Amino acid sequence: MERSVWQRLPVREFPPKERRADFREVNLGYLPEDAIVEASRCIFCRRPFCVEACPFHQDVPGYLERIKAGDFAGAMQVILRDNPLPAVCGRVCPHPCETVCPRGKKGDPIAIAWLKRAAADYAPDVQFPEPAPPTGFKVAIVGSGPAGLTAAWQLRLNGHSVTVYDAMDKPGGMLHFGIPTFRLPRDAWRKDLERLEALNIEWRMGVKLGEHVTLEELQQQYDAVLLAIGALKPRWMNIPGEDLEGVWHVIDFVKAVNLGNAPDLKGKKVAVIGGGFSAIDAVRMAIRLGAEAFILYRRDRAQMPAAQEEVKHAEEEGVTIHFLTNPTRFIGENGKLVAIEVQRQQLGEPDESGRPRPVPIPGSEFIMPADVVIEAISQEVDLTNLPEPLKGKRVIAVDAETLQTPIQGVFAAGDAVTGPFDVPNAIASGRKAAQAIHAWLMRQKEVAA
Ligand SMILES: Cc1cc2nc3c(=O)[nH]c(=O)nc-3n(C[C@H](O)[C@H](O)[C@H](O)COP(=O)(O)OP(=O)(O)OC[C@H]3O[C@@H](n4cnc5c(N)ncnc54)[C@H](O)[C@@H]3O)c2cc1C
Ligand code: SF4
Repeated sequence: MERSVWQRLPVREFPPKERRADFREVNLGYLPEDAIVEASRCIFCRRPFCVEACPFHQDVPGYLERIKAGDFAGAMQVILRDNPLPAVCGRVCPHPCETVCPRGKKGDPIAIAWLKRAAADYAPDVQFPEPAPPTGFKVAIVGSGPAGLTAAWQLRLNGHSVTVYDAMDKPGGMLHFGIPTFRLPRDAWRKDLERLEALNIEWRMGVKLGEHVTLEELQQQYDAVLLAIGALKPRWMNIPGEDLEGVWHVIDFVKAVNLGNAPDLKGKKVAVIGGGFSAIDAVRMAIRLGAEAFILYRRDRAQMPAAQEEVKHAEEEGVTIHFLTNPTRFIGENGKLVAIEVQRQQLGEPDESGRPRPVPIPGSEFIMPADVVIEAISQEVDLTNLPEPLKGKRVIAVDAETLQTPIQGVFAAGDAVTGPFDVPNAIASGRKAAQAIHAWLMRQKEVAA
C-alpha cells in the first residue's frame, strides 16, 4: 500500500531484545533513498515555522530541498552555515522545529532531525569555508561542550586565534562524557570534531580553570575570554539518606559509565529519580549493565521533559516508570542503601515552569526495595573558583544581550548561563557569545586606531 504524504517514513532501529545488553546505537538512521522520500514530504512553507522554532534558526527548508534532490553534500553546505555539529544535532536534538511543522497537524511532522543526520552521515567530508584573514586577536574559551565548540568555530571563521581549555582529556563536554553511546556513538560525531580541528583551533585539554590556570592569567594572555563551563555540579534533593553507599548523582553516574568505570549493577535494583534526558539515559545505561531498573517521576507522563522517543525506547527495553511518585528518604543498613520511602503525588495548579505542580498525598508513603539510586533531578553551575561579580543565582551573571559578564572582556555561554538546558540552545548561546565577542574586539580595534 502506498504511504500517505502525512505519514513519516520510519527509521531503522536496533531491536529492543538485542539492544538491552548493548551500548551500540539504537536509531540506525535512514538509508539515502529513504531520506530523499522523507524530505520530499516537505511543503516548503512560505513562512517556515521550523526555522523560527530552532534556537539557532537552522535553514531547514534549504537543506531539505537539497536532500530531496539527492544532494547530501549540498545539504551539508547549507547546514554548516548555521551549525558546526550536524551529526550531533541529527541524533540528540529535541527538535522543537518538528513540533511546529504543519505536516504534524494531520499526520507526522517532517523528520527534520533524522534528515540532518542523513546529510551528516552521507556527506561527512564537507568542510567549513576558509576563515577570514587573521585579526591578530586571541580568544580563550574555557569548556569544550557544544557552546564552547560553537563559539570556537565562529570566532575562528571571523579570523581570531582561538584556544580551547577543558578540564577533561578530550573535547565535547556532555557529548564526550554525558550522553550515552547508544544515542550518540563517539565515532558518529568524530567527523564534526575533525571538521572543527581542521580550523586550527588550539586545544589545551586536562587544564582546569581555578586549579591549573586562573581567570586573571587568561585575561592577561588573551584579548577576550569565554566561559562555557556547563552546569556540572550535582544538585541533590536534600532528603535523609543521601550519604548512603549506593546513592549516586546522575552526572557522576553517566561520567563513570561513559569513561569506562561503570559500577557493577548486575542483578541490582536501580531506581532513577527524574523525568528528563539524563534520567532516561541513566536508567537505560543501568538496564544495559544488567540491572532491574525503574524510574520514579513526581509528575505524569505528559509532563516528562525527556523526548517521547527516548521514553518509548526505555519502556521497550524493560524500564518501568512509576509516575506521580517522589522519594522522601533513603533507607540503609550498615551504611548501604536497601530501600526508598516513596510518597504518592497528585497534580495541582501550574508552577513557574507552567506544568502542574506535584502535590504530595499525605499518608500515601510506601517502601520500595533498592540497591542503587541515581538522582537525576538537576545540576547547577560550579561557581566556586570564579570572581564574586560573576556569581549569579546558580549561573554565571551576564548581560542578556551581549552575554558579557560584569568583567570587561569576559563572556559566558551555554548551560553556564542558562542552567541545565539542551544542545541546540547551547549552540545558539555559543553563537550569540561569539558574535558579541567579535563585535567587542572590533570595537577595541577602532578605539585603539
Ligand atoms: C545524561 C545527559 C543526557 C543529555 N541528553 C541530551 C540530549 O539528548 N539532547 C540535548 O539537546 N541535550 C541533552 N543533554 C543536555 C546537554 O548535553 C547540555 O545542555 C549541553 O551539553 C550543554 O552544553 P555546554 O557547552 O554549555 O556545557 P557542557 O556540555 O556541559 O560542557 C562544559 C565543559 O566545560 C568543562 N569545564 C567545566 N568546568 C571547567 C573548568 N573549571 N575548567 C576547565 N573546563 C571546565 C567540562 O569539562 C565540559 O567539557 C543531556 C545532558 C545529560 C547530563
Ligand atoms: S515547517 Fe515542516 S513543512 Fe514547513 S518548511 Fe519546515 S519542515 Fe518543511
